[in-house]
Amino acid sequence: SGAGGSCGSRNLIFNGTTEEVKKIVNTLNEGKVPSQDVVEVVISPPFVFLPLVKGSLRPDFHVAAQNCWVKKGGAFTGEVSAEMLVNLGIPWVILGHSERRLLLGESNGFVGDKVAYALSQGIKVIACVGETLEQREAGSTMDVVAAQTKAIAERVSNWNDVVVAYEPVWAIGTGKVATPTQAQEVHFELRKWLEKNVSPQVAASTRIIYGGSVSGANCKELAAQPDVDGFLVGGASLKPEFIDIIKSAE
Ligand code: PEP
Repeated sequence: SGAGGSCGSRNLIFNGTTEEVKKIVNTLNEGKVPSQDVVEVVISPPFVFLPLVKGSLRPDFHVAAQNCWVKKGGAFTGEVSAEMLVNLGIPWVILGHSERRLLLGESNGFVGDKVAYALSQGIKVIACVGETLEQREAGSTMDVVAAQTKAIAERVSNWNDVVVAYEPVWAIGTGKVATPTQAQEVHFELRKWLEKNVSPQVAASTRIIYGGSVSGANCKELAAQPDVDGFLVGGASLKPEFIDIIKSAE
C-alpha cells in the first residue's frame, strides 16, 4: 500500500462547526511533518464538511469519508453512495467503525460487502475491526477479529487499497489505550491470519493501523511495535498533538 506509515484522523465526530473545521485545517496545514513516502495522512471529517476540508487542506494530506452505502447508489434516502464520493474526488473511506457495527447494527457480512463495493469503485478503504471489553475478557479477541477480517477477505481479491484498522472498542474514546504489547499481539495475529488465509504477500504489504485513545504521549511506544503500521486517531486528531502523532512514523 505504498507509504510505510499511515495516520488517519476521524475527527469532528459530533461537535464540528464550519469555524472549528477551518481552525483544525489551518493547524494541519501549518504542521511540519515527514514527507508522503514516510507517512500518509488522511483526514476524515463528517460528510457535510468533506468538500470544505478537501478544498482547503494541504495537497500532501488526503481525505476520507467516515462511511458509505453498501452498493450502487439509488433510492436509499439519507445514505451517501460510493459513486457520490468518487464524484467529489474523495479517495478514501472508513468502513466498519465499531460505532456503525454496534450502534447501527452493521454485521460482518454487511461491512464486507461495503468494503468490496467501495473498492470496486476505486475508493481506498480503511476497514475497522476490534473486540468489545466483554469479548476480550471472555478470551475471544482473536476469534472476533478473525471473523470480521474473514468477512472482508471472502469478498475482496485485491488488497492493494485496503488498510486494516485494529480498534479495540474498549479503547475508543475512553482514554484507556491498549498497551503496546496488547496492540502488537493482535496486529501480529492479524498478520498471521492474512498470511494463512489470504497470502504471505498480502500479509507483508497490508498496513495494520491501531486506533483507540492514541495520543501524543503514547504514540511513540505504540509506533515502535513491529506490526503497528500507523494509527487511526479520534480525539487527539482535533488537537495540535496530532502533528506529534504523525511524526511518530519517522
Ligand atoms: C475513533 O473514534 O475511532 C478513535 C480511535 O477515537 P479515540 O482516538 O478518541 O479513541
